[in-house]
Amino acid sequence: MNAQQSTPDQLEGLVPSSDPEVTVVRTGITDSRVEWFRAGEEVDSFIIRTNRFDLVVDTMGTPEMFAQVATLAPLRQSLPTIVVTTHADYDHYWGNAYFASTKYLWIASEHTPARVNGQQVELNQMNRATDGRFGSVVLGEPHIGISTATVLDGGDLQIHLLPTPGHTPDHLAVHIPQLRLILAGDTAERPLPELWDSHSLRSLRASLKILHGLDATVVIPSHGGTTDPAILTDNLEILSEIETRVASGESLDDLARHPLPQKQAFYSHCLQRAVTAVQEES
Ligand SMILES: [Zn+2]
Repeated sequence: MNAQQSTPDQLEGLVPSSDPEVTVVRTGITDSRVEWFRAGEEVDSFIIRTNRFDLVVDTMGTPEMFAQVATLAPLRQSLPTIVVTTHADYDHYWGNAYFASTKYLWIASEHTPARVNGQQVELNQMNRATDGRFGSVVLGEPHIGISTATVLDGGDLQIHLLPTPGHTPDHLAVHIPQLRLILAGDTAERPLPELWDSHSLRSLRASLKILHGLDATVVIPSHGGTTDPAILTDNLEILSEIETRVASGESLDDLARHPLPQKQAFYSHCLQRAVTAVQEES
């Protein structure tokens, strides 16, 4: 979730005031080199173990949360640690300060530094709103910012980082072709992904199409816990459905009258972004 663009009302109830408990998710991935962790309803993260390095995909919302991950699944001291940030929303990378005193390599999008640089205000706000939950978060800048699809060669596994903007300008998805696995970040989410702004519909749709074209059998978004690749076509379809309804004259209120049961407040917020984007595009 992108708290930066949310109103205080939207923040209320969406950002828990204490760290959720982190657990291991044991279903959905058959290859033991990919480990999956869940922080309550807030976010998921992953560790991919290759012959050459441990790759962390997202560090959750606080250093303490990533410490829970590292307790459940210690990183191997004999190999380098690479941290990939899918995008610079708080719930995906504010845990990076866990690594502050260690040697690690942080890879994100070339657009991530611009987002991090403006985030101290958001961090202060979130800290106040949660009575200091984010007190040990320290913002930093990625060591490498990628601008194009990039392959990390772990020896036994090749891990592809794919720029997939739309939810945010700096979004990366992770694809492991050998395992037919995609970690979709927030590019895919049920019932529909959150758009960055009203100009992001085209890029989100293009990103969903890129991921869909990879023909993966396991697609895991950062929120929601599904592994079903149908999430990609479902997201494309709901965006088209919104487009069709708006074109036929339906308003945001008309569309909101048939809300889907999941995450009501957040759904309304995502729906509003999508409807505005469609209206501005036409
Ligand atoms: Zn998120």
